[in-house]
Amino acid sequence: MRFNILDAVSDLEIKKSMADKLSINEMAKQLVSIGFECMMCGECCRAGSADNTVILFPDEIRLIMDAHGMALEDVCEPSIPQFIDDSGILHCFEWVLKRHSNGNCIFIQADNTCMLYQQRQEQRHQQKHQQGHQQRPWICSTYPFFLAFADGAAKPEIMVSECRGVGRPMNEEDALTLAELLKARLLAEITEEIGLLEKLKGFEDWEPTRFYSGQGYQGYTIAVHDSCGMTYITD
Ligand code: SF4
Repeated sequence: MRFNILDAVSDLEIKKSMADKLSINEMAKQLVSIGFECMMCGECCRAGSADNTVILFPDEIRLIMDAHGMALEDVCEPSIPQFIDDSGILHCFEWVLKRHSNGNCIFIQADNTCMLYQQRQEQRHQQKHQQGHQQRPWICSTYPFFLAFADGAAKPEIMVSECRGVGRPMNEEDALTLAELLKARLLAEITEEIGLLEKLKGFEDWEPTRFYSGQGYQGYTIAVHDSCGMTYITD
């Protein structure tokens, strides 16, 4: 089966135009009705029952590297490989935020605050006047919410991950800020996926049956694909 990149990109362009039409006010109303307050439990950042994988896009990685003087390999690592090619190189899509060997995010502190957090209230105020987004990755700054196209749905819907803060009262201002972030995150995700696919040209012939099964990748060369192209990492 040949993967059709052009079809996939055109599908994503349609999704992007749907995402662009989302009403912040409507989303904010929905968020208020669901309710949320961060309980500072740190569960979403630590290894535990929930998956704490944080996918990072190239601009997010650069932001963290620049702000903290960190090297790429200190901030992130390849995501789980998806394909192995004829030369035995494993191929991944996107990067994930680095975790300690115990599975906890490297930026979570003993008091459950995030080293990337940087005075959330102040940022919330400034976000209205700034381009770009805070240092915290999109996934973290919008958790436990995300937008997704449910099967067959023409427009994205608000989804909620497991979190003990869901259902607590949320004020309108916080809901509006979160709605803006959610919409910006979805647009960034779709844009990144289009960029990645456009750089993937030439790899259309990978067969689903050759998907990597996850038996570990020590000793392999890894190719990480993102919207900036392909980065090789040798063990
Ligand atoms: S970057 Fe911060 S908010 Fe995101 S998982 Fe790590 S500690 Fe948690």
